[in-house]
Amino acid sequence: MNAPVVRVGVLGCGTVGSSLISLLQRQRATIGSRTGLELEVTRVAVRDASRSRGVDLPAGALTTDAASIVSDPDVDVVVELMGGVEPARTLVLEALAAGKPVVTANKALLAAHGPELFAAASAAGVDLLFEAAVAGGIPFVRPLRESLLGEPVHRVMGIVNGTTNFILTRMTEAGADYAEALAEAQALGFAEADPTADVEGHDAAAKIAIVATIAFGAAVTADDVVVEGISGITAADIAFAARHGFVVKLLAVAELTDGADGPQIGVRVNPVLVPETHPLASVRESFNAVFVQGDAVGDLMFYGRGAGGDPTASAVLGDLVDAVVNLRRGAHATIGGLEPARIRPADEGVAAHYLSLQAADRPGVLAAVAGVFGEHGVSIASMEQEGAGTDGEARIEFVTHRAVERDLRATLTALRDLDAVHSVGSVVQVLTEEEGS
Ligand code: NAP
Repeated sequence: MNAPVVRVGVLGCGTVGSSLISLLQRQRATIGSRTGLELEVTRVAVRDASRSRGVDLPAGALTTDAASIVSDPDVDVVVELMGGVEPARTLVLEALAAGKPVVTANKALLAAHGPELFAAASAAGVDLLFEAAVAGGIPFVRPLRESLLGEPVHRVMGIVNGTTNFILTRMTEAGADYAEALAEAQALGFAEADPTADVEGHDAAAKIAIVATIAFGAAVTADDVVVEGISGITAADIAFAARHGFVVKLLAVAELTDGADGPQIGVRVNPVLVPETHPLASVRESFNAVFVQGDAVGDLMFYGRGAGGDPTASAVLGDLVDAVVNLRRGAHATIGGLEPARIRPADEGVAAHYLSLQAADRPGVLAAVAGVFGEHGVSIASMEQEGAGTDGEARIEFVTHRAVERDLRATLTALRDLDAVHSVGSVVQVLTEEEGS
């Protein structure tokens, strides 16, 4: 007896879309034997239908009219791999309203409109699955939303941007400065010609907003995330980190903390000095990892390729198989109702920091600087002065104990006002035991 055929419409046939179509063809027999279903890509939307896609498609499958795929009664399930917010948002909403499950890898779309789209999927009683949107090929979203459903997760820390992890790895291991490491990443295809979204942390911010939404059942968007990228990190910061047993990583963090009126969600992306002994410190090159801390399960780490056509297609295909099996059963996955998010204000975060100053190398300066920290309630854990320069200027590096962000900012302002302080350099968070290091 022939297996029932499920007809798949794919919106986009670029890096991920073409890998998905190839992988689906390679895995068709396995999927058939395990699910009893045959998946067939019947229609594919692109912008330029005249360009060869390097994949086997039925004649006439390519179209530039993506909306016609969504409304086609002969398409059972829609995979959105075109990227961007519009028209992707409208097309996904139309597919869901027509009762078609949707699989997407689109982090920008979910980070901006996730709550609206999840509500639409719930109202339609169909799947909206998005494993590939957070850490590419790493199966992490499904464990978080299913296996860890009963787990009181209190923090998720991720290295979720391969470009910045590659740059920081080259700075750490090859002694490259930021500009050299970025140029190498661009030459090797790990960074775009315009690297802003990666190096300034916006890509990671979109991903951690999605993670926070699932982990804490609250409607968190990319606008809620406090973001700082890696473009200000210098070779001297990396050298300080190495001397003290740290590596610098761009971490995306979502955490539950106590606020004056109850629990608050803190979401941020920023460079962090991670102890060399922490599992996240061993994540090198363009690899990604997500470290989950639960009250019952303890620490978990998910590691793998966060991007690339094939790894991302692997996650999309896993979702697609789930969606079609659910469709046949008349079931769907849900992330449940989302509460409005109570977001911790940026200046209420609490963390230890490393910071550096260029200051006059003369008696009394250290005492004046230390006094500024004390006046603002920021206590110094360690201090190091790098050899006096011939120009009468010294570089002084501090690590603070954990302090409230507002107090740290006030300290920095007051330090800049001191005559003896010529400039304040990098200010980088340090991961401490309180954050699970
Ligand atoms: P891509 O290579 O730029 O491919 C996008 C595809 O969508 C192209 O085939 C393009 O057509 C088509 N398209 C765009 N706008 C369209 C429109 N209005 N109508 C019809 N077709 C349209 O992008 P990608 O790298 O595959 O990424 C796809 C999605 O996966 C994005 O949301 C991205 O964030 C996500 N993602 C990607 C990766 C990765 O490693 N690449 C990893 C994780 C998640 P043309 O080919 O004719 O231009």
